[in-house]
Amino acid sequence: MSLDVAATAAQVSTMAQQLAAHAARMKPVPDFARALLAQWHASHAEAVAYLEGQEQAGVWPFAIPIEPMLTVRRVPAEPVAYAVVAADGSQIDVDSHGLVHCCLVNVGWAAIAYGDRPDAWLANEPAVLHEDRELFVEADDGMREASESQLSMLRTVAEMERLALVAEAWRDRPGLVAIADGNLVRWELGGKKPSASSAALLHRYLGALAQLRAARIPVCGYISRPNARDVANTAALLAVRDCDRGKRAVCDRCAGRGDRLCESLRVLPDRDLFPHVRVGECTGLFRTPATVLQHYAPDDRIVFCYLRTAEEMARIELPAWCTGKQELNAILSAVYGQCLRGHGYPVALMEAHEQAVIHTGGREAFRQLVLAALNENQLEAAISSKRLSKDQRAV
Ligand SMILES: [Zn+2]
Repeated sequence: MSLDVAATAAQVSTMAQQLAAHAARMKPVPDFARALLAQWHASHAEAVAYLEGQEQAGVWPFAIPIEPMLTVRRVPAEPVAYAVVAADGSQIDVDSHGLVHCCLVNVGWAAIAYGDRPDAWLANEPAVLHEDRELFVEADDGMREASESQLSMLRTVAEMERLALVAEAWRDRPGLVAIADGNLVRWELGGKKPSASSAALLHRYLGALAQLRAARIPVCGYISRPNARDVANTAALLAVRDCDRGKRAVCDRCAGRGDRLCESLRVLPDRDLFPHVRVGECTGLFRTPATVLQHYAPDDRIVFCYLRTAEEMARIELPAWCTGKQELNAILSAVYGQCLRGHGYPVALMEAHEQAVIHTGGREAFRQLVLAALNENQLEAAISSKRLSKDQRAV
């Protein structure tokens, strides 16, 4: 059957009109957001008090400014001599071969020293997970096969543990900074009633963070192209406070609009809120009221800022103990220096990724190894029936 072009064209046209209308409604939003941030920059204590009240009310995700909203920090120059360690991981999931219940997690790392004693340590280590306690999680109705997202959590935890190990091995290097790929707030493992397996993973993750703190090795997470809206949500909270003041009447800014300008702040990504931050500068620090952070040691609770590199606005997350002047400067100068060297992305993270990635050849090799081992041990039938019994138990 051929496509009804006329009917499709009418819908495409409607879509374009809606997009144009949305763009028109959004046009004043960035300017409004900046004016709002400027207003609250001047009333920092009042903003914090109000937001802490909202925190009690359970509104999230948003961010509480530790410093006035429009604070800008110049990143110090990259030190002549310093060292970075980074870790990254990849995985081949249970379902990718369907032969046997197992999973391969490959964690790669890169440790690089700069200065008069340049050095590098690039390596990776695979782990084949096959035991029930690794691959099954308990659910309300019994044991369930771990989902892909649970396996990536397992991988994230393994990455952080490896980062701590490698950093400890290099702890004598001057100016050492540890860089993780992605955020350090483990939302996925929190929640009101985390399962025992989530709690166990979180415990391991927090153990690695504590290990880095005990060794006094500054650590951060680097988030490229962040889509977070915590600061935008904060702006929306502050705007709405002044918009209706509980009277259900909109403010002058919102009057005459179909949707409230004050509400529309929520759809802005944080990275669009800081045009005043120039390349080589970062925003002030914010803390996030994520409930999972209550499980973190107070010194390890995560704060964040945005760093403008030549290529993007990156988000940097770090534990509270790393906000001391010395640690913060070490992190910012190392990360920004790494981005300059890596044409927009930290070199050490790129190298760790290269170490971790499993290309098609590696995937096929893993599949062949599993097949060969099963054949050799005449296990295929036995494993299938074991698998079957697990599946039935999980129903
Ligand atoms: Zn309003």
